[in-house]
Order: sequence, then structure tokens, then C-alpha cells
Amino acid sequence: MRILANDGIDPVGKKLLEDAGIEVDTQNIPQEELASKLNAYDAITVRSATKVRKELIDACPNIKLIGRGGVGMDNIDVEYARSKGIFVENTPAASSLSVAELVFSHLFNGIRFVYDSNRQMPVIGNTEFAKLKKKYAAGIELKGKTIGIIGFGRIGKETAKVALGLGMDVLAYDIYDFPTTLTLDLTAGIKVDVPVKKATLDEILTQSDFISLHVPFIDKPILGKEEFEKVKAGVGIVNCSRGGIIDELALVEALNSGKVGFAGLDVFDNEPTPREEILKHPKISLTPHIGAATNEAQERIGVELAEIIIKRLKG
Ligand code: NAD
Repeated sequence: MRILANDGIDPVGKKLLEDAGIEVDTQNIPQEELASKLNAYDAITVRSATKVRKELIDACPNIKLIGRGGVGMDNIDVEYARSKGIFVENTPAASSLSVAELVFSHLFNGIRFVYDSNRQMPVIGNTEFAKLKKKYAAGIELKGKTIGIIGFGRIGKETAKVALGLGMDVLAYDIYDFPTTLTLDLTAGIKVDVPVKKATLDEILTQSDFISLHVPFIDKPILGKEEFEKVKAGVGIVNCSRGGIIDELALVEALNSGKVGFAGLDVFDNEPTPREEILKHPKISLTPHIGAATNEAQERIGVELAEIIIKRLKG
């Protein structure tokens, strides 16, 4: 049995597969060559780069499983593959904590102006040190502040847990009902149940010191001009979910007016070419869609994929 891990697989997952007697090929076959080469394998795993469309599925009747390391499956014709009896599975929970921790990278960055300091220090750090020291003097702490979480699924809940661990109050909003107690898994096996408060979107907007978005892609922004008018002055906004759910131009306007204090963005409207106004804005902390890109998440994804493949192909 042979599988092609066309976008790579973590070594731990690869070893699990090999120990189960499955040959793993990690060479990257270019998209245009897949139709002629993929049929030599029993399964393919991809991340977001490789596309598995109807034509490829038709050209490779030997394929029994398509595994997606990660969440979204927009690069796979899922229903078509399933209609042909092919298993299509992803690893939705493996990266939640990594994304949640990235939210706090942006928040810690924001409350102490680190994003700006890192841009200014190399330029004027040795000529205008005192000026910069004054500029970044009014930092704040996260403890005791309120974070509003929009979208209380896997990542929203992980974000809430980190916030609760830091002593923040959590307001959570989702279109579906959810349990209002989260179990924090602390060090030394200590577990603590902590409550979160259910809120409406309006309550999130008007009561939060920080707002973090964790919804799937939806066709209309959740935060736009109207919503920015309602937020607390100086709020910090983080988006590590999907581009398009914040109106970026309205965000720039709200940052310029001071209504929004800072923003942390991992995702953008037109990836991979985000707009200049966002990239150059002095009040935005930026990362290039790296929410799931930690060694731990990649290992969990690899292990989860391996377990799925072993269960489906050998179980
Ligand atoms: P999830 O499906 O577990 O949770 C999403 C939640 O959003 C659900 O509870 C759903 O009910 C809620 N929701 C949907 N529409 C809503 C709306 N209009 N208002 C309020 N809530 C709404 O998904 P998840 O695993 O938590 O992922 C959340 C987002 O993070 C997704 O967009 C995913 O693509 C993104 N993500 C980003 C990265 C990254 O690298 N930055 C990595 C993984 C996932």
C-alpha cells in the first residue's frame, strides 16, 4: 500500500504509517503531473496547496482516500469524491491551540506597542531612544480586561481558555448555543472549571476591551463601519480566522480616528497580496497566515492523518 503526501507530512505521522506497513512518498508532484502519476498510489494527503478536483479524481480510480491536513477543504471536490466511494477526511481540531496562542501573540504585541517598536527601534533606536520610550509608555495589562470572542467553536473556545488562564473576563457570541463552562487543563494535571458569559454581538461590541474573531468565511464582514461606531474607544481587534470577515477599509478608518486602538491580523482580504494600507499601517500587528504553523500542530496533524489512513485503509 502506498500513499502520496504531496504537501508533506510530519515525520511522526510518517513513521506511524510506515510502522503500519504503508509506504509514504513525500515527493511533491506538480499539480499538472498528478493526473498521470497519482493512480500509482492508494491515497493522497494534501494541505492547502494541492488541488484534488473532479478531473484528477476521474483520472485516478485507484485512490481510496483523500486526507487534508488542516481545516478547510475548499481545495478538494469533497462531495464528488465521496460520491465515488472515496474517503475524504480532515483534521479540524489539531491546530486550534496554535491559532489561539497566535491571537495572544498579537494581543501582547498590541498592548505594549511591540509591533511599532520593532519597526522604529532599528531606525531611530540609537538616536531617539527617549522619544520612543515616551511613545510606548502607556501600555496596559490583559489581566482583568474583557475579551469578546465572536464565533465560539474549536478555536474560539481555545482562545477563551487562554484568556481565562490570564485572568481575563470572556464574553462569547455564536449563532448556535454552547456550554458556558470551560475546563482549563493547567499544569501538573490540575483541571479547573471556569465560566464564560454568553453575549449578543452588540454586547461584545460595546463591552469588550479586545475582540477576537473565530468564524468561518462568510460573505459579509461581521465588523464594518457600523460596528466600529459601537465599540469601546481604544479596543484591540484580532482576526486569525479568515480574510473578508472584517471590512479592512473601515478598520483602517477606525484605526486612524483612534476608535480602534490596534489590530492584529493573520488573515487578509486578498491573500497572498494584502492591500498596502493594511501592510503599512503603524497600528497593525501582522503575520502571514501562520495560525496553524507550529511544530506541535503539524505533528498533531500528521499523527491524526496517519491514524485516519490506517483506520480506513487497514482497519
Ligand atoms: P469551528 O467550526 O469549530 O467554529 C466556528 C464557529 O463560528 C462555530 O461555532 C459557528 O457556529 C460560528 N459561527 C458561524 N457563523 C457565525 C456568525 N455569523 N456569527 C457568530 N458565530 C458564527 O471552526 P474553528 O476550527 O474554530 O475555526 C474558526 C476559523 O479559524 C475558521 O475560519 C478557520 O478557517 C480559521 N482558521 C485559521 C487558521 C489560521 O492559520 N489563521 C488556522 C485554522 C483555522
